[in-house]
Amino acid sequence: MILSGATVVTALDPVRVVEVDVFVEDGRIAATGGGTRHDCSGCLVVPGNVCAHTHLYSALARGMPYALEPPDNFLQILQRVWWRLDRALDEDAIRASALAGGLEALLSGTTTLVDHHASPNAIDGSLDVIEEALRALGIRSVLAYEVSDRDGPERAHAGIDENRRFLERVRGEPSPLVRGLVGAHAAFTMSDDTLAACAALGPLHIHAAEDRIDTGAVSRLASLGALDERTLLAHGVHLSTEELELVLKANASIAHNARSNMNNAVGHAQVGAMGERLALGTDGIGSDMFEESRASYFRLHEDDLHVGADWPLARLAASARLAGRIFEEPLLGTLGPGAPADLAVLDYAAPAPVRTSSFAGHWVFGLSARSVRDVMVAGEWVVRDRHLTRADPQELAAGARTQADRLWRRLDEVGPHEFEPKGGRRWQAAPVA
Ligand SMILES: [Zn+2]
Repeated sequence: MILSGATVVTALDPVRVVEVDVFVEDGRIAATGGGTRHDCSGCLVVPGNVCAHTHLYSALARGMPYALEPPDNFLQILQRVWWRLDRALDEDAIRASALAGGLEALLSGTTTLVDHHASPNAIDGSLDVIEEALRALGIRSVLAYEVSDRDGPERAHAGIDENRRFLERVRGEPSPLVRGLVGAHAAFTMSDDTLAACAALGPLHIHAAEDRIDTGAVSRLASLGALDERTLLAHGVHLSTEELELVLKANASIAHNARSNMNNAVGHAQVGAMGERLALGTDGIGSDMFEESRASYFRLHEDDLHVGADWPLARLAASARLAGRIFEEPLLGTLGPGAPADLAVLDYAAPAPVRTSSFAGHWVFGLSARSVRDVMVAGEWVVRDRHLTRADPQELAAGARTQADRLWRRLDEVGPHEFEPKGGRRWQAAPVA
């Protein structure tokens, strides 16, 4: 296949913009080739976006009724909103969430989702349900079940088993589009034994120091030998200087979720000090990485006028490199020969020249998901002319609304979660050696 006539952004960090035809063969970008010509005249072709931390299960929560006292802090947000919602999820709601979240991701040019799933009353097989839904849409994903002790030892064990089972399945029947990590909620809801059991299974995807309540999380992970270059930490807002050093020394990744941090009022992550492996996630606020990266830029720019427009692009490149390491595809997120053909065609009437030197400005001040015309994952068109090629979004959305109504009704029967971390120190960490 040949994508012809476009301005092509072959890399985001550093940015490289060229006027070339893009050849796609066997799911990858090729140096030359032939076949069907896909007219992209007047368009930009960019690497598909990667969302490095999301919760598809929150897709049905948009606008859900809330009758309890308004939360005053992060723990109460969890107790009164998310730890109620997750306990009300059943298999049908999980499937509908994944389909609704996945379709929005693709239509906004996001080609890979790194998901963190929780459904304490429907744990077994939940990752298969999500995988099947996302496979039907054709999006790339990295899945994990969020292990926690907050719902008791049985569910903690079931969560560990679900991660183990899914990882073995994915390793046993390799698919180009799905991988697994070991999900863990956050150190403040987990015992050392549970954390260690998770770490023994494989690389962790865990919330870390999102709020003050999770202070010391990274020290605990390090003391348990659960922090290495494959670890994905979400948030990192309240890392101490020593902990940030541990993260950088281990070469672990951090997923920054600027909009979620603002929405939960947890504080400002010190993103300037977080190194080259700082990626971007949405924490479940959709999967539109145009919007997320722009919000993260403005949030940071408010504090530091010297931050350039290339900063959010470098973070998106880091998100893609993270996914590339997990998929063992080091060129993921670039459009050079040999890279997986994950890309978006943007219909963008540029009001100023688009060049290597100017592209970042277009990204921050002009481009958005509304420009996304076509999307390709692993060489297959999954969005053409703003329509999903494999599913009907209106039908999926109608199904999601039906499930949301069911879910919201069940929520009335679920009270605030009673888990209290006892001053944030329910489980004491051993000092780091
Ligand atoms: Zn999260």
